[in-house]
Amino acid sequence: MSFLPLGLSDEIIRAVTERGYTIPTPIQLESIPAILSGRDLLAGAQTGTGKTAGFTLPILHQLSDKSIKGPSSGRPPIRALILVPTRELAAQVEESVCDYSKYLKLSSMVMIGGINIKKQISRLRSRVDILVATPGRLLDHVQQKNIDLSNIQVLVLDEADRMLDMGFIRDIKKILKLLPEKRQNLLFSATFSNEIQLLAEDLLNKPVMIEVAQRNATADKVTHIVHPVDRERKRNLLAYLIKENRWKQVLVFTRTKHGANKLAEYLVANNIPSLAIHGNKSQSARTRALAEFKTGSLQVLVATDIAARGIDINELPHVVNFDLPSVAEDYVHRIGRTGRAGAEGDAVSLVCVDEHKLLADIVRVIKCDLPSMVIKGFEPDPKIKAEPIKNGRSSAPRGVTFKPRTSKGRRISKSAPKKSTGSKHRY
Ligand code: AMP
Repeated sequence: MSFLPLGLSDEIIRAVTERGYTIPTPIQLESIPAILSGRDLLAGAQTGTGKTAGFTLPILHQLSDKSIKGPSSGRPPIRALILVPTRELAAQVEESVCDYSKYLKLSSMVMIGGINIKKQISRLRSRVDILVATPGRLLDHVQQKNIDLSNIQVLVLDEADRMLDMGFIRDIKKILKLLPEKRQNLLFSATFSNEIQLLAEDLLNKPVMIEVAQRNATADKVTHIVHPVDRERKRNLLAYLIKENRWKQVLVFTRTKHGANKLAEYLVANNIPSLAIHGNKSQSARTRALAEFKTGSLQVLVATDIAARGIDINELPHVVNFDLPSVAEDYVHRIGRTGRAGAEGDAVSLVCVDEHKLLADIVRVIKCDLPSMVIKGFEPDPKIKAEPIKNGRSSAPRGVTFKPRTSKGRRISKSAPKKSTGSKHRY
């Protein structure tokens, strides 16, 4: 089925066609008519399913339907608010909004921290129909009375589970109080914990429910492999694998920001162009690293889970878990970056003796065994004992209360590692 029967305007179809989409994805097939009908929506969908277009296209259709024609007839208010957990995701979503609305008289803005607030204030003085924001910076503007949210017609909470994991629930509640009561609410989440269900009950009015098949780590397009290795030799093994296999574009996950920095430095010292992205890097450094990686001029991007969340890189061939994630379901999110759009990919995990329990948790979550292969010359030393793992998520994002992932009702909380007593960074 093509996009035509979905009832979107010609301008939107034209933009979508130019982007190369001919067939709507399953989430788009369901979400577009539901949103156009004006109903609230509860959608279970991860990055990679086409969810962004799934909510953006009908919103653009609705706003352009009712829009006051042309900017000359006065400045229309902000009518759609898309809240997302991370800066990268915000930038990506706004880019898509821009692209899909290129034949419409609608204007969008991205509002994220790490960027000069004055520029955002001056941008707010001109027309903004669709605002894509992270909660913290939006509230900064609210506090400074730079923004009026009283005309919002559609609210999107994208990656709502991540927003809760990152401790944004209070911020979200504050924002909800600023919105008009009569509005359409769209909630997208990859997982449905009790917390998400509570939020959905609070927020949504008789929602249409959609759940598309999770992109899970057992997708046939992805080859998984575990390489057992000693913790101190992981970086040597990674450099070896990159060189030996001539990997051109590798996304590497570390557990800590410090670990990401150290690893990128090590790889650079070994003539492998690498950069780290994480929450302590400036927005411009993160954007630059991501852009270089996307264009292929940067061979390795080392990222923490939160920084990498929502990164959309088409056909990423290699994902490496330098550290296994401390929350088993993050394995699925990480691997969701490879083998996309029909391309093949591989997911390589470097696993040391400390991580055996994490590996068992992952196998349980993804419900399939991960093949293991020792690389010659990197055989683990059986005399090395396991050490406790430091959880890299101990520092809260600025301005928000960090809520550990052991929140009630989250299935994965049972397997989350206890906070370690050892505080030394290993890498
Ligand atoms: P998302 O889940 O929104 O992050 O989208 C994942 C990727 O799928 C993005 O690269 C989109 O550009 C792409 N995409 C979205 N909708 C379609 C479609 N109907 N056909 C092909 N690609 C799509």
